[in-house]
Amino acid sequence: MYDVIVVGARCAGAPLAMLLARAGHRVALVDRTSFPSDTMSTHFLWQRGAARLHAWGLLGRLRERGCEPIREITFDVGPVQMTGIGPAVSGVADTYCPRRTVLDTLLAEAAMEAGAELIEGFAVRDVLWSAGQVAGVRGHRQGGAESAMQARVVVGADGLHSTIARRVGARTYQQVQPLTAVYYSYWSGLGNLGAAFHARPGRLILVWPTNDDLTCIYVAWPQQEFHYVRRDPEGSFQSALGLVPGLRDAVASGHREQRFTGTRNLPNLYRTSAGPGWALAGDAGHHKDPSTGMGMSDAFLAAEQLAHAIHNGLAGHQPLDDALACYQNRRDALTANSFKLTLTTARLAPLSARLEAFYRTAADQPELARQVFGVLAGSIPAAEVYPDHTEITPRPAGQSRARPAPCRASRA
Ligand SMILES: Cc1cc2nc3c(=O)[nH]c(=O)nc-3n(C[C@H](O)[C@H](O)[C@H](O)COP(=O)(O)OP(=O)(O)OC[C@H]3O[C@@H](n4cnc5c(N)ncnc54)[C@H](O)[C@@H]3O)c2cc1C
Repeated sequence: MYDVIVVGARCAGAPLAMLLARAGHRVALVDRTSFPSDTMSTHFLWQRGAARLHAWGLLGRLRERGCEPIREITFDVGPVQMTGIGPAVSGVADTYCPRRTVLDTLLAEAAMEAGAELIEGFAVRDVLWSAGQVAGVRGHRQGGAESAMQARVVVGADGLHSTIARRVGARTYQQVQPLTAVYYSYWSGLGNLGAAFHARPGRLILVWPTNDDLTCIYVAWPQQEFHYVRRDPEGSFQSALGLVPGLRDAVASGHREQRFTGTRNLPNLYRTSAGPGWALAGDAGHHKDPSTGMGMSDAFLAAEQLAHAIHNGLAGHQPLDDALACYQNRRDALTANSFKLTLTTARLAPLSARLEAFYRTAADQPELARQVFGVLAGSIPAAEVYPDHTEITPRPAGQSRARPAPCRASRA
């Protein structure tokens, strides 16, 4: 019998298991894959994500594994370009772009070191119920017989297509239709192209240096163009790169090291993330378009909040159900800004005259530019920086209000 079974051992699940194990709980961390393992994701980690790694004692390890800090980003909206970086978060000034093979392995190892039992190659098929509560999971190793594990709490950190969310009947809210479709790949031989965010009407082109001297390049198109793009990803990619002066030629001087990876399966949603004996973390509970690169940082945030809630519940500081409900409320509040910013960014809209004027002002004022980078990084609310923040973080039409779960105060 475990205290907690965490299903999914990447950005949400592994830190959650690590933090709970560090707090003295008996934790099983289950994943159907084995690490190191890649996943469909680029991997830009803003300061607020890197700050969590630092707080957990893992940022130094990331650097030791060949992930160089990124200290400057180009923000290019066509007529205006700025180069800089946002303010430090909890003393962490740099951003990073670790390959998921590196980051996720490091996180899973840290969970094991903390005392969590990592069970790889085990696919969870269903949850066990007892007296109206989730009481464990059942599943199997590839080709193996089904087996079950019991726990006081089961966490689905099993990604967008979460089995746990489906099995517990988690409700979806604040859903906004998918906005972009993307392709990305990795190039060698590009030298120091730097990190850049190029926004053009109907296109977003992201360039990030990553492990092994590779450069990850990502292009987003409006969702409805996916069927054209997928016919010729290479040609579509090249014409997008051509929108940024010099970029297509620079990329042509390097060598593409992998096939293009692409998807249009990028919904924007929250799911009810707490119930009797269960919770959801990371993409399982909240998924958004990757155009702002917030998913991993938000998965870390959810892991930390949920670890705190589960510990409070299991240690008897607060009824477990209340603690889990508070977690969901807090997660929603803490991700609200990045969700709105992401929805605006992913619309790939032309730059308005008002925003262009604002960016021109910011480009001449280093402190204002720094704040703009802070908004981009999700560490400063747009309302604190933009004269009319509703252009950046509006409430999208048709988006229903979150219905917060009841959240009673902790007795601790
Ligand atoms: C194209 C793309 C680009 C992105 N770029 C960025 C970026 O630059 N920066 C950023 O911060 N975010 C980015 N994201 C988002 C980021 O990838 C996710 O937010 C992040 O991976 C969420 O982590 P997670 O741990 O919640 O889920 P996942 O990373 O999806 O991990 C879920 C884990 O659960 C396991 N699992 C699933 N089902 C089961 C089961 N039934 N039994 C056992 N195990 C199971 C899987 O094997 C997997 O290991 C991007 C996403 C996409 C699609």
